Amino acid sequence: MRQVIIIGSGPAGFTAAIYAARANLNPVLVASSVEVGGELMKTTEVENFPGFPEGIQGPDLMAKMQEQAERFGTEVLYDDVTELDLDGDVKKVTLGSGTVLEAASIIYATGSAYRTLGIPGEERLSGHGVSWCATCDGFFFRDRTIAVVGGGDSAMEEATFLTKFASKVYVIHRKDTLRASKIMQERAFANDKIEFIWNSAVEEVLGEDATTGVRLRNTVDGTVTDLPVDGLFIAIGNDPRTHLVHGKLDLTPEGTIWVDGRSSRTSVPGVFAAGDVIDPTYRQAVTAAGSGTVAALDVEHFLAALSDGTAAEAALA
Ligand SMILES: Cc1cc2nc3c(=O)[nH]c(=O)nc-3n(C[C@H](O)[C@H](O)[C@H](O)COP(=O)(O)OP(=O)(O)OC[C@H]3O[C@@H](n4cnc5c(N)ncnc54)[C@H](O)[C@@H]3O)c2cc1C
Repeated sequence: MRQVIIIGSGPAGFTAAIYAARANLNPVLVASSVEVGGELMKTTEVENFPGFPEGIQGPDLMAKMQEQAERFGTEVLYDDVTELDLDGDVKKVTLGSGTVLEAASIIYATGSAYRTLGIPGEERLSGHGVSWCATCDGFFFRDRTIAVVGGGDSAMEEATFLTKFASKVYVIHRKDTLRASKIMQERAFANDKIEFIWNSAVEEVLGEDATTGVRLRNTVDGTVTDLPVDGLFIAIGNDPRTHLVHGKLDLTPEGTIWVDGRSSRTSVPGVFAAGDVIDPTYRQAVTAAGSGTVAALDVEHFLAALSDGTAAEAALA
């Protein structure tokens, strides 16, 4: 039986692995079969991860994290977790290959997925003008024209934040009213740099190697127009990857995994969670990495208490 199995290969999973491996816990990390490295694999330049003053490409950063985790003995499995049995002291993790791993503890770090529009150009131009994160990428759009798609609080927040950099921000919304809270709407309406384009759906992102515009279809009369922009920020929601633990772990009203205060302890003893899957608010690589650290330290504490015969206290600590 393993001491700890880490599920997920983003900044949270690999950071948890670095700490767990250096604490001699011999972690195994299930990285997924196709999406190894997590969300940063979808981006180009990362300029806000400390330690890289010149910036670093997202995939390069994740390769370094993996190398660091493996250097201390983390075993990385390129497979998907398909089922979890979290009852009792021995946790069972079933992989796509059919293998069942057992461990005294689990760190669940499966991240969250930004919703996509599913339109031509979106995936191809991701990191080349198409973005899901104003905090991450707003800085690249100084004095540029940007469009934000969405009508909720996060769209208003992204649009307002982007006016710090952009010369103009269009907010494109399918309807003629917003879902966003009144205060967020008022803040956006009052901003001179923001212009609303109502009753419009983005049908295509235009551009070869970089975004040059968006094609819009009017949802009322069907007319099609092209709007020249340098960037498109998609703010239509985010789904924590929790399907494996529905009914097994408590969730928050936002759909993230519930954890006890500032710890990584979930509602089930021996199961810890870290990264964007517990975070409805910040969702950054460095916060996910910090959260992975917390999870590894909590696991260390839990396992130490188990071996001292104080398991109940460990679960409640
Ligand atoms: C396009 C883009 C650009 C971004 N740019 C920046 C930036 O510049 N700076 C910044 O700080 N943040 C940026 N972010 C946000 C950042 O990527 C996330 O906050 C961070 O990756 C979250 O880390 P995580 O480890 O919690 O989850 P993730 O990175 O989402 O990793 C989760 C991992 O778990 C795996 N997984 C899920 N389910 C299973 C399963 N059943 N079995 C096995 N594995 C599974 C996934 O495949 C994935 O590899 C960006 C995000 C995107 C989408």
